[in-house]
Amino acid sequence: KVRVRFAPSPTGGLHLGGVRTALFNYLFAKKHNGTFVLRVEDTDQTRFVEGAEEYIASCLEWCGMTPDESPQKEGAFGPYRQSERKATYKQYADQLIADGYAYYAFDTPEELDAKRKEVPNFTYGQSTRSEMRNSLTLSEQEVSTLIAGNTPYVVRIKMPKDELVSFTDLIRGHVSFDTNLVDDKVLLKADGMPTYHLAVVADDRAMEISHIFRGEEWLPSAPIHILLWRYLGWADEMPAWVHLPLILKPDGNGKLSKRDGDRLGFPVYAQNWTDPKTGDLTKGFKELGFMPEAFVNLLAMLGWNDGTDQELFSMNELIEKFSVERISKAGAKFDFEKAKWYNHEWIKNTSANKLLPGLKSVFAEQNIVLNNDVYLTKIIDLIKDRCNLLTDFIAQASYFFTSPAEYDLSAVQPKWTVEKASFFEAYALLLDEELSAVQLEEKFKDLATTHNFKPGELMLPLRIMLVGGKFGPGVFDIAVALGASETEQRIKTAIK
Ligand code: GLU
Repeated sequence: KVRVRFAPSPTGGLHLGGVRTALFNYLFAKKHNGTFVLRVEDTDQTRFVEGAEEYIASCLEWCGMTPDESPQKEGAFGPYRQSERKATYKQYADQLIADGYAYYAFDTPEELDAKRKEVPNFTYGQSTRSEMRNSLTLSEQEVSTLIAGNTPYVVRIKMPKDELVSFTDLIRGHVSFDTNLVDDKVLLKADGMPTYHLAVVADDRAMEISHIFRGEEWLPSAPIHILLWRYLGWADEMPAWVHLPLILKPDGNGKLSKRDGDRLGFPVYAQNWTDPKTGDLTKGFKELGFMPEAFVNLLAMLGWNDGTDQELFSMNELIEKFSVERISKAGAKFDFEKAKWYNHEWIKNTSANKLLPGLKSVFAEQNIVLNNDVYLTKIIDLIKDRCNLLTDFIAQASYFFTSPAEYDLSAVQPKWTVEKASFFEAYALLLDEELSAVQLEEKFKDLATTHNFKPGELMLPLRIMLVGGKFGPGVFDIAVALGASETEQRIKTAIK
């Protein structure tokens, strides 16, 4: 039975990489009729950020990846916040100590600081643990006295000497780590809270997780987790490991960070995120005008492809085609121009009717209230091929709602002459609600000939009169959408 989990820590906005991890979990679950679990890893109270959990839930919702089990939708394996599972972790720490796989460490923060000052790059582990105050160096008697006296302690894993922890990662193949190079990580903190390492293993087991999809940055933690699975006696139940490739900066030089987004002017968060501590707003893909379908599509292509040249996939197609074998080992470069291309393709390939509700909220955010859905649908249909972002519709559509405030006369020097003006006056009289764009064009050409003009000389002036500048779709399509009386009005105002 496939059960996967997305396990973010609620420490801020959800980064592109985080949503991609969620997506690969989701796709794998859906492909195998499995269960997609959202587990909130909030054991580090010092990094907890108000509102982050709600933010994560709403991002998943927007992307169309609603978890099957989550804090909001409890299943049989709850609670789904680690802070609410606190009681379950200590027994495992105790068990590990009893079995000799972990130990108490009583070193105070001051003692640790002093040690770090004394020894550059100090790590607590095999070569140093004998110099520290812990249950491996103190007598049993001393340890009992310290514990009885409520002396704060942490529990550390005792990394074995000269072992190679080997395992198979479904993307990376055979991976092994030398235990001599891994330090004695804290498992239980002085406040009784587990660290990530203990909690993640305990919960992945308790929630019967079958596959762990997570970012490559967690690969160095895998040997610790694998040892814990063994030490706790659960080696036979261990999930499969899948470490996803890093998402790299556009130039391929290192991991993509929020700072790159800020510096290069693109979002790295799914949705707007206002840091409650600083009040700083970071722009999100949603607010910038990305369709969730396009966002999901572009995320899927960051490290995966179906083996063909196909680049556009709906969620259903992704579910159908997704396979772990086609996830690449190499980091995936994030290119914002390419991201916009995905969105452009999605806008182009989505019907105006389907775009309508989303666009109405984009307009509403700008305080533009549009009630005439029929008119709006017509307009969307006319301009959607020209938009990369949903927010582009605002600029692209503005002239449909307000007549041009000024004209770009550089395009029609020297303005429209008297002769041309009389042509347009005559043309305005021919306009009729019943006429199609093709018919309007025919009449335009016939009339131009009658007035001894080449129709080409007059087309651009007409466009300037209707929209104000050299842009927009076919000018007769615009005239039809505006309607006969509005078109007439605009021509008359222009030539006045
Ligand atoms: N809580 C970890 C994170 O914030 C989860 C890592 C994992 O999936 O094991 O990404």
